[in-house]
Amino acid sequence: MDIERLPVLTDNYIFLLIDREAKIAAVVDPAVATPVQQRLAALGCELIAIFNTHHHSDHVGGNRELLRLFPQACVYGGVQDRDRIPGQQVFLEEGDRVEFAGRRAEVFFVPGHTRAHIAYYFPPTAPEAPGDLFCGDTLFAGGCGRLFEGTPTQMVDSLSKLRQLPDNTRIWCAHEYTLKNLQFACTVDADNTALSQRFVAVRAARQRSEATVPSLLGLEKQTNPFLRWDDPGLQATLGTADGVRTFTRLRGKKDLF
Ligand code: ZN
Ligand code: FE
Repeated sequence: MDIERLPVLTDNYIFLLIDREAKIAAVVDPAVATPVQQRLAALGCELIAIFNTHHHSDHVGGNRELLRLFPQACVYGGVQDRDRIPGQQVFLEEGDRVEFAGRRAEVFFVPGHTRAHIAYYFPPTAPEAPGDLFCGDTLFAGGCGRLFEGTPTQMVDSLSKLRQLPDNTRIWCAHEYTLKNLQFACTVDADNTALSQRFVAVRAARQRSEATVPSLLGLEKQTNPFLRWDDPGLQATLGTADGVRTFTRLRGKKDLF
């Protein structure tokens, strides 16, 4: 399975999962249809699945048009997104499995950004190979999604599930927000050397117009404050020894940043 990243809209990424031998593809969170259609045509692939993480239009906006072009494609989403994801046919819950190109992904229920958000995790196929996590707007490189429909407690619980995955997991998040996220992170975690090094590297990459997605979970655990609610230094900075309260204060500060 090959993974391709299509940059669309202002800062969205659509991900294509491709089986070149079988000439089939799946798409994760098609914000729009045209770039997907064009890339599929260039590859000579047929679309067989749309994997949605949540119902926001910058994640499902291309569903209808892609279904018109590929009527056989199956649309997957979270069970609680029923009636919110155009064309949804499969209603997924925590622990469900989905298959594509001989790889099987595990579904995580990760409410917080929305009340129905799910993530798809493809475990590694060999001991040294990376796993792949498609986490929509839950975990970002250097940050996390805003809490539109969920509580901080829910989001900490959701991020806890993702944080338990192997360090060598590629984080395919749906937006290029990394530089702004790390700018914020530096204001709350100033003594974190791994973070300041990452900030410098990401700033340079963005100056070269390079994508910073995917990142690796191991690096996120070291540098993303929204995975570090239980870090004593960060807790001291935010004036609480409580994990959820640390997260809540971080999220509040970031909303104003
Ligand atoms: Zn969203
Ligand atoms: Fe989004």
